[in-house]
Amino acid sequence: KTRVYRFGDKKADGNSTMKNLLGGKGANLAEMSRIGIPVPPGFTITTEVCTEYNQLGKNKVIPLIKLEVEEAIREIEKTMKTKFGDDENPLLLSVRSGARVSMPGMMDTVLNLGLNDKAIEGVIRKTKNERFAWDSYRRFIQMYGGVVMGMKPENKEDEDPFEEIIDHLKEKRNIKLDTEFTVQDLQDLVYDFKDAVKKKTGKNFPTDPWDQLWGAVMAVFDSWNGNRAMYYRKIHGYPADWGTAVNVQAMVFGNMGTDSGTGVCFTRDAGTGENVFNGEYLINAQGEDVVAGVRTPQQITRLGSERWAQLAQISEKERVASYPSLEELMPEIFTELDGYQKTLENHYRDMQDMEFTIQQGKLWILQTRNGKRTGAAMVKIAMDLLEEGVLDEKEALMRIDPNKLDELLHPIFDPAALKDAEIIAQGLPASPGAATGQIVFFAEEASKYKYTILVRTETSPEDLEGMHLARGILTARGGMTSHAAVVARGMGKCCISGAGALKINYKTRTMTVDGKVFHDGDWISLNGSTGNIIEGKVATREPELSGEFGELMVLADQYATMKVRTNADTPKDAAVARSFGAQGIGLTRTEHMFFEVDRIKAMREMILASTVKGRKHALKDLLPMQRSDFEGIFEAMQGLPVTIRLLDPPLHEFVPHQLATQKELADELHISLDAVKSKVAELEEFNPMLGHRGCRLGNTYPEITEMQARAIIEAALNLKERGIETHPEIMIPLVGTVNEFLEQEKVIRETAESIFAKRKTKINYSIGTMIEIPRAALLADKIAEHADFFSFGTNDLTQMTFGYSRDDAGKFLPIYLEKGILKEDPFEVLDQEGVGQLVLMGTERGRKTNPHLKVGICGEHGGEPSSVEFCYRAGMNYVSCSPFRVPIARVAAAQAAI
Ligand code: ADP
Ligand code: MG
Ligand code: MG
Repeated sequence: KTRVYRFGDKKADGNSTMKNLLGGKGANLAEMSRIGIPVPPGFTITTEVCTEYNQLGKNKVIPLIKLEVEEAIREIEKTMKTKFGDDENPLLLSVRSGARVSMPGMMDTVLNLGLNDKAIEGVIRKTKNERFAWDSYRRFIQMYGGVVMGMKPENKEDEDPFEEIIDHLKEKRNIKLDTEFTVQDLQDLVYDFKDAVKKKTGKNFPTDPWDQLWGAVMAVFDSWNGNRAMYYRKIHGYPADWGTAVNVQAMVFGNMGTDSGTGVCFTRDAGTGENVFNGEYLINAQGEDVVAGVRTPQQITRLGSERWAQLAQISEKERVASYPSLEELMPEIFTELDGYQKTLENHYRDMQDMEFTIQQGKLWILQTRNGKRTGAAMVKIAMDLLEEGVLDEKEALMRIDPNKLDELLHPIFDPAALKDAEIIAQGLPASPGAATGQIVFFAEEASKYKYTILVRTETSPEDLEGMHLARGILTARGGMTSHAAVVARGMGKCCISGAGALKINYKTRTMTVDGKVFHDGDWISLNGSTGNIIEGKVATREPELSGEFGELMVLADQYATMKVRTNADTPKDAAVARSFGAQGIGLTRTEHMFFEVDRIKAMREMILASTVKGRKHALKDLLPMQRSDFEGIFEAMQGLPVTIRLLDPPLHEFVPHQLATQKELADELHISLDAVKSKVAELEEFNPMLGHRGCRLGNTYPEITEMQARAIIEAALNLKERGIETHPEIMIPLVGTVNEFLEQEKVIRETAESIFAKRKTKINYSIGTMIEIPRAALLADKIAEHADFFSFGTNDLTQMTFGYSRDDAGKFLPIYLEKGILKEDPFEVLDQEGVGQLVLMGTERGRKTNPHLKVGICGEHGGEPSSVEFCYRAGMNYVSCSPFRVPIARVAAAQAAI
């Protein structure tokens, strides 16, 4: 079996379809090489070798790949006309990690590998560029020492030992920038770095290039099981057995002088999706200098540069003199790069995120991948590519990650509130959105307050977990392609980068702007769309949805065969859901209406009544309230089906539990406090979720069901009089036996008939049940003989199938997820393997006796894309979810049908 795949010189052993084996980076390097894009030659050690490494260990794995690696190196030597390990004309390498999907948290790249005290002399003789040679050498020791030899500080508050040496020297020499170092300075750094390595690790820095190479390759494999990578895998649900590939590649140098440089670019705007080529670069720089934000990067295009200068408040004159775009500075290179970005976007048919290096006037492409983007950009890019004819409708739909639509539906700052906002500084609008929170300065403290804004000079992959937890991210350094910016866009998190006016002091945990000091815990707000940093909190409001979003929804509905309804308890929720395209209501929880101040009293009176007569009296007060609620909902959903569930929760939830409120109630109802207390005690249950609730209430107090049925039917008739069409579906909760259903059905039908007779008019309505008790799924055929519809209440069904109390699962579920006992929280993602069987069985058995049975789902799962897909396969007529998840479910339903 082949373990090493070569690429370069317009050929390659692999191609872009081999991401699982070669990792994303390796597969794309191979593909670019094949289509004639200039990539430095190199090879990829496969992800399978990583798995072998984890099983066999280093000593057994090296012999497995040694010959292939040596042969591949000879190939690079031929192309580059250099020799690995040679003192006179050494081949220098970069060693890069690369998993199937790009994963921040994997080992950082090691550049300039192969240098030692002898080879450096050869490089100097060959390039006649001492500065370049020593700069490369000190970078190599810094990177190799950091990622392979463990020189990175463990504690975030400790300085990186290498950076400390650099800062020290800068102080001594009274300079600010790396570029101001003399050759002698760089030489001193190399020796001081090596000393520091020896002191901290007790080991000499390896001089033999082959030792260096194997050390770096093994470090990449080790990083697969590092904490950061494991965390990233966990939050994304990627399995550990994927492994990472290692890419070894000839170096090209962006730090050879003012005719060299390095940069990052995007074929479209990753924040907004706008179709403009954009990116950043630095002259005479290497590797991650652009991303790490050590100097202020310059823009690739002239247009971008002008926009940037405006935001940074830099005059046109200063811009042209100090920050010219690549387009202006190196027009030929720009034209070539522009050509490649077009080629690559056309080839991959998606927005690309590319890395390039210019070595003495020659352009090299080092990486391309489908760019990370915000939810808004995802929608715009997919719809634009459809319009451009690059994608067809199905492909455009499949490009949408339904969960990411959530971002678009989140609140934005209220423009009115923004008017009065105190803007303290401005940075780059790195990732759109609105975030308000309390300042924290360390990623580890991102959950210190409920809402936090992570404020950093710059971020690094170690900060990933904290970035995930924070509401927004603010950095003082770095451009639009900085680590913070790219990661934030990927997470859909609001981010402002490069706010140069901020002085951040980690020791005192303060941020100073214009003399004003902000402390840990102070509130600030970020407007990721404008780059404005605002003091204090700013009010938010619902977002406006873009034209592309609307087009996407129309497209989704063309392909979706399953309907999407919403769970809504009030006319207002119903209206919101309808604006999001809900095609009906799948669940109205009537009890939520009872919690309003004026109703809870009547409700309590009903509960406290000790006789049927007393109960009926109280129910009479509740009737008009319920009826008007239903009228409001029917009106909001005109013409669409509305499923109304009869009273479900245990009555205990409605009575007061505090002495003061119990007293109030006693006074109001003119009964004794003791009477209230004893009733409350009487209602207490050991296991309320399995207690006196659902249809067990209606079956013990039929007058409640009668009142609710009356409210529904009368509301529908009232609307009919006003010419509004309704489709009420009355749903009986928590049915476990056929008789439970039949008893309730009888009460409802009799109530309806008596109203019809009295008013001499009628409407159509249906009666169905929730399937949420396993027994109901087992006896679905019997129940369906009488029921018009089933709605799978997968919250309770999950609770009862697993035997996990929903209210107590918080104690053990997180640990189960951490240990991998469960892959996902079954209350979030439908357990297709177990609970899913009951859903399939219930649907199948139900339809056997009642072919017209309407089937839907109304648990939380109705808005979760993988569960929606399952519901489609189960043959459901609709899914129902909370209003804000309706668009997500619509796209998921379309994707399921494609
Ligand atoms: P990441 O996955 O973090 O983006 P990369 O493997 O892409 O890491 O490497 C980071 C940076 O190192 C690249 O952006 C590029 O600037 C530099 N680099 C990688 N390989 C080479 C090379 N062969 N020649 C020059 N620079 C390189
Ligand atoms: Mg990196
Ligand atoms: Mg990269």
